[in-house]
Amino acid sequence: MLDGMALALGAATGSFLNVAIYRLPRGESVVAPRSHCTKCERVIPWYDNIPVLSWILLRGRCRGCGEPFSIRYPIVEALTGVILLGLSLQLGWSIGLAFAFYFACSLLVVTYIDLEHRIIPDRVTLPGIVVALGLALVSAWYAPPELRWHQLQQWAIGMLVGGGILWLVAWGYALATGREGMGGGDIKLLAMIGAFLGWQGVLLSLLLASFIGSIIGVGIMLVRGGDTKLAIPFGPFLALGAMVSLLWGDEIVRWYLSTIL
Ligand SMILES: [Zn+2]
Repeated sequence: MLDGMALALGAATGSFLNVAIYRLPRGESVVAPRSHCTKCERVIPWYDNIPVLSWILLRGRCRGCGEPFSIRYPIVEALTGVILLGLSLQLGWSIGLAFAFYFACSLLVVTYIDLEHRIIPDRVTLPGIVVALGLALVSAWYAPPELRWHQLQQWAIGMLVGGGILWLVAWGYALATGREGMGGGDIKLLAMIGAFLGWQGVLLSLLLASFIGSIIGVGIMLVRGGDTKLAIPFGPFLALGAMVSLLWGDEIVRWYLSTIL
């Protein structure tokens, strides 16, 4: 019962994330106007806006003009549902779940916008850093007095390590090659990840992102032939690395310590 609720609530949130993914890079408001077909301007009524189901029933088309709607819509809705379900099973229904879900949603939005537009909007990452501060404050409130300061330190150090590390890499890369390799958007994204996950979590995210990124990069080079510059942005890998760290970070570190060391 609760699991079904998590799926439904997650999918409904995913519906909103779709709006954010479409509108943020275009500089539009995410709250107004109501969702409408981008071709015939028809406002989409609630019964055509039911996550996943409406897309399937309408076979991915606008009821008014038949304009195809991207498969991204049901995918993001389903994915958000599964993410909320997964997080709720791990964390239970708690205030921590709300923060973790907010973080995961931000990562999802970043992934799709970066894939499509090659940008990571400040309107996602900067509020994320502030929300992470909120999480640190809440944790500090519930922590025993001697650990309160520690929670806030985690937030600040995580953010500085996350942002700083990529800033150094970008600076070194520019120095060595004379061209810009990584954008400021990646730096702020990693600062947000650090703000949520702490410095250990952000390092793990970066490691996982580089690992997954190089495997996929090599795969693409093998398919397309040697000389391609990495044709995919790094943001989605960072987001994926952060998602894995959020869900299984402790297990991965424990496994690593017990097998390698
Ligand atoms: Zn239409």
